Amino acid sequence: MTILQELTALIGEKNVVVGADLERYSIDWMKQYPSQPLVAVRPANTQELSAVVKLANRHNVAVVPMGGNTGLTGATHAQGAIVISTERFNKVREIRKTARIAIVEAGVILSNLHNVVEEQDLLFPLTFGARGSATIGGVLGTNAGGSNVLRYGNTRDLVLGIEVVLPTGEIMDLMSELHKDNSGYNLKHLLIGAEGTLGIISAAVLKLSPKPKAYATAMVAVSNLDDALKVLNKLQEATGRSVEAFEYMPRSYIEAHIAHFPSARGPFDEMYDVNIMVELGTTIDALAQTDAQGKVGLVNQFEAILADFFEEGIVLDAVVAQNQAQRTQMWERREAAAELSFNFPNIINNDVALPLDRVAEFLERAGQELGQVDPDFRTFVVSHLGDGNIHYVVSASKKDPVLKNAIMEKIEDIVLELGGSFSAEHGIGLSKLSSMDRRKDAVALDVMRRIKAALDPNNIMNPGKVLP
Ligand SMILES: Cc1cc2nc3c(=O)[nH]c(=O)nc-3n(C[C@H](O)[C@H](O)[C@H](O)COP(=O)(O)OP(=O)(O)OC[C@H]3O[C@@H](n4cnc5c(N)ncnc54)[C@H](O)[C@@H]3O)c2cc1C
Repeated sequence: MTILQELTALIGEKNVVVGADLERYSIDWMKQYPSQPLVAVRPANTQELSAVVKLANRHNVAVVPMGGNTGLTGATHAQGAIVISTERFNKVREIRKTARIAIVEAGVILSNLHNVVEEQDLLFPLTFGARGSATIGGVLGTNAGGSNVLRYGNTRDLVLGIEVVLPTGEIMDLMSELHKDNSGYNLKHLLIGAEGTLGIISAAVLKLSPKPKAYATAMVAVSNLDDALKVLNKLQEATGRSVEAFEYMPRSYIEAHIAHFPSARGPFDEMYDVNIMVELGTTIDALAQTDAQGKVGLVNQFEAILADFFEEGIVLDAVVAQNQAQRTQMWERREAAAELSFNFPNIINNDVALPLDRVAEFLERAGQELGQVDPDFRTFVVSHLGDGNIHYVVSASKKDPVLKNAIMEKIEDIVLELGGSFSAEHGIGLSKLSSMDRRKDAVALDVMRRIKAALDPNNIMNPGKVLP
């Protein structure tokens, strides 16, 4: 039998996708890494998944795990490989309200999980613009971050247990529901963020939080990023660390947003250089209640704090959302970032992390020093400032791989001098392989390669990604 016939015998003809139907598995969200997979398969459960991986390993054919295919680094590129889509194991198996956990299958779409847990007044906090397509397997595979890391942590901080199909097809059961378990090496953390190079996560036990009963969301203008950090720290102190999001949009971002959406308006009557979207959340009943004027307690508290900041001169202007529609509008502006970046030619995505007090210096130096490499470069910047993550998109003056590399190197130089990382939350995939090669500690890279060889001796599991 051919490999396709064997796959069909294992999981049925309609779950073995070939020909024109392969198109949606052949191109990434950014449309930068087209490929021609051999086939895409859609197993229904862990046993079928394991059988498919065993077969691929026996035939020495590469497999590429795929969730929503919204990753931004080309990590689902699958030339000649078997794409293993998790779209059919998509059940939320259990919500245990008292233990505050959700047991879910890898193909569950992030926003579907949000909806299910919110019905029980709980929250799975991880959120970002692609939540309507990204899957649990994909967010675990990339250790995704998003806009509320400063309150709830990265994906890694939200996972208690996982089930994994290893490159040999063996099923590794790490479905712990425990907050403490010091029984040997932490294999869960090894698999999370491995971008599908060490195994395919089939299910997970996730931590849930109480759902905030009210939010207060505002656009705040300040003079500079130092003042922005003063606002963040003072707000955390004044509210018992209830800042959910602290997102920076420079003037150029606001201008790009207005130019792209004909109905869009700036957040303020005036244009400011430094615009921050701040969101507070509370689970405290007293703060969630409305007063006689119909205003939520948390919004009143936020406005009072902002008034003090205004008096002190650290806030120049502020607009607080007065209803859900205004809050949604603020979020839509921020979450349009990926779409807006498409308007720039020859883009180079730099997803970097800096210590919070070095972000301003990074932006200043990058703005100056990139001119030495490409005098006509432009940038498109947006940042999860609350956790020091900057999406520093460079629009190069021409499409030229040598120039692209030089730009990336220059940014890496500055980032590393300031104690940062060249990859904050999107991972490595294909797009950051050269950065890994140049910048990752050589011993650490060697250890990673040894781990990869031990778990995947035939190098079938998403080969060519992460490790240069
Ligand atoms: C509009 C937009 C906004 C975004 N915003 C953010 C953001 O704010 N923060 C952030 O961190 N990211 C962001 N991302 C990128 C983010 O990494 C992905 O959206 C998400 O994490 C990937 O989920 P997915 O299911 O689409 O995975 P895919 O793209 O399908 O896969 C991503 C990687 O995970 C692997 N993988 C997939 N499934 C599994 C599995 N079951 N087991 C093991 N490995 C697996 C794949 O092989 C690949 O290496 C954004 C993307 C878009 C398009």
